[in-house]
Amino acid sequence: MPGPGASLREARYHSTMRLRVLGCSGGIGGRHLRTTSFLVDNDVLIDAGTGVGDLSLAELAQVDHIFVTHSHLDHVASIPFIVDTVGGMRAKPITVYATAATTEILRRHLFNWAIWPDFTEIPTAEAPFMRYRELEPGAVVDLGGRRFTPLPAVHTVPAVGYRLDSGSGSLVFSGDTGPNDELWEIVNRIPDLKVLIVETAFSNKERVLAEVSKHLCPSMLMDELAKLDLDPEVWITHLKPGEIELTMQEVEEGARRHRPRMLQNGQVFDF
Ligand SMILES: [Zn+2]
Ligand SMILES: [Zn+2]
Repeated sequence: MPGPGASLREARYHSTMRLRVLGCSGGIGGRHLRTTSFLVDNDVLIDAGTGVGDLSLAELAQVDHIFVTHSHLDHVASIPFIVDTVGGMRAKPITVYATAATTEILRRHLFNWAIWPDFTEIPTAEAPFMRYRELEPGAVVDLGGRRFTPLPAVHTVPAVGYRLDSGSGSLVFSGDTGPNDELWEIVNRIPDLKVLIVETAFSNKERVLAEVSKHLCPSMLMDELAKLDLDPEVWITHLKPGEIELTMQEVEEGARRHRPRMLQNGQVFDF
């Protein structure tokens, strides 16, 4: 059951938001590599990759909202486990926010009774453990003054990034994306942008792979950042294990106006 602070927490106007990195790798391995997930305050996840597995049961039970960038497994793998693990401990459903296209994929290919039960009908369709909320392109979801806006992404499946806006600052997460002019046009109009988290999945020698899988490599990242007129902190995510050092070296060598740094597990942003 959520504690008595839950409704207060939702009702409060949030002057700042806190994002904690639970996973920011393109793969798994060892004690530090976890796939994409960010915890916002105590109750919101942006993607739910394997990093979610580091949260305690008490922390998991507080997650009310999950914003999904796209349906790839490295971004959704923990949703089935969260819902199954804490669904019965909670008084209300966990809400999964995704575009209509991504929601359809999750329904058809993940929560389809074959890979995992459909928790929008468990224990009953009237009071389920989980529910979907479809995102309209560009439409804002406001959670107690914390504003979440999907942003365009260009990937091999329908995908979005997100802008998180606390009212006193904004953070943009690109999601998984290849070159994306539309994104920069929107991002350049966010005057209070403090933090940009952008993917660079591959090293330059795998540029062809980056192109076909609609990710970025360092040379492509530089072309993208050249379209960014603002000066936020720039943090690199989704590095492929085994190419981390090489890719970051190429990022640092290619860097111009922005000085991208490597996002780390456990890193916290207040904005
Ligand atoms: Zn992907
Ligand atoms: Zn990914």
